[in-house]
Amino acid sequence: MVNFLSLIENKREGKILAPEQIQEFIREFTAGKIPDYQMAAMLMAIYFRGLNTAETTALTLAMRDSGDVLKFPKDKRPLVDKHSTGGIGDKVSLPLAPLLACLCFRVPMISGRGLGITGGTLDKLDSIPGFKSFLPVEKIIAQVQKVGCVICGQTDKMVPADKKIYALRDASGTVPSIPLIVASILSKKLAENLDALILDVKFGRAAFMQTKADARKLAQAMVALGNKCGTNTRAILTDMNTPLGRAAGNWLEVKDSVHCLENKGPDDLRQLVIASAAHLLVQTRKSKSLAAARKLAEECLNSGKPRKKWDEMIVAQGADLKAFNQKLALDSTAKVVAEVKSRKSGHISKCDARIIGEVVRDLGGGRLTKDSIINFDVGVDRIAKPGERVEKLGALCRVHAADSAQAKAVIVRLKSAFEISAWKVSVTPLIQEIIG
Ligand code: URA
Repeated sequence: MVNFLSLIENKREGKILAPEQIQEFIREFTAGKIPDYQMAAMLMAIYFRGLNTAETTALTLAMRDSGDVLKFPKDKRPLVDKHSTGGIGDKVSLPLAPLLACLCFRVPMISGRGLGITGGTLDKLDSIPGFKSFLPVEKIIAQVQKVGCVICGQTDKMVPADKKIYALRDASGTVPSIPLIVASILSKKLAENLDALILDVKFGRAAFMQTKADARKLAQAMVALGNKCGTNTRAILTDMNTPLGRAAGNWLEVKDSVHCLENKGPDDLRQLVIASAAHLLVQTRKSKSLAAARKLAEECLNSGKPRKKWDEMIVAQGADLKAFNQKLALDSTAKVVAEVKSRKSGHISKCDARIIGEVVRDLGGGRLTKDSIINFDVGVDRIAKPGERVEKLGALCRVHAADSAQAKAVIVRLKSAFEISAWKVSVTPLIQEIIG
């Protein structure tokens, strides 16, 4: 058995751990042979002392191999996925998975739930009547082979080391450590056995990384390690000061995603969906240039096939299509809808994603703890975006709430998310940099 105490002391003193030592302690921790208090001490030592590239690689691979790695039959369709570090209104995965399937990729999209203000893909999908977000490994593989895409949660047998370590990080103040974040994200993505991966690393008011410089550092580390482990990896750095799309809140974001699949906007969501697909087309050499790839992705989205693929995907995962379409036809599924009106006319110069995210969470659309129960129907939609004009008493957004007292309570906060300028404003580009 590994002398884990001496490994903790070595890391505390800033020494480098050997790959075999890391593999062994991850194996023993997953098997329950190392107590949580010792692993928490190791995580804190890593938080302060860091890990070099070889150590981070060893940690990532040991975590990946702590459980099942998806094994797909040989097929000429490359296996691809996207990972986002999370933001407000970020529903890119929903339209992207069926688009990629229509572009002849296989997409085993293993997603997570939201915590705090950032929404989770699985919570959004759970607002679809009948949808099953947890599938056994055999079903994940069968659906990817047949439909081309699946969006579901991590099974108990996939990357169990990350599940245990993530919970400890959360409880020990060691989440914001770049090597720990890299190992956590990539171990899960590498367990999908991908040919290519696109990372959407967000920065800004409502992002995990507040500054572009920090987001760049995280993106560079993940791109280098993903490529080193045999998955062609690129990252897009995107602005998360403004919510993505026109809606934030679980069911409202499903509606926003369906609009995107029906080519009815929102423009920024479409831009990020097309860019993600285009990079994957280039990364897998299906397209020679980004311009050609973008054209291919746009034509595919315009064809309406990804909209049909979406229905096929959700039905394969148990959705009741009739009930889904009936729900989609409703203007709102929340008890109360209220407009948030502008006090003056002008041009929107700011729409603060953090305030909108906090409001959605407080309406019941997000979690304050892991056990909070989500209200899928609440949220904010018809969000006016920077650069757009608004008239006095015109709508800045709408709030969907559980009752009128709740709606009333958040209207002032929502108003404070918007700044209005008398002059035209220039809009910050959504996609700021490509890494890799
Ligand atoms: N998402 C993850 O899966 N892990 C992290 O450490 C951070 C974000």
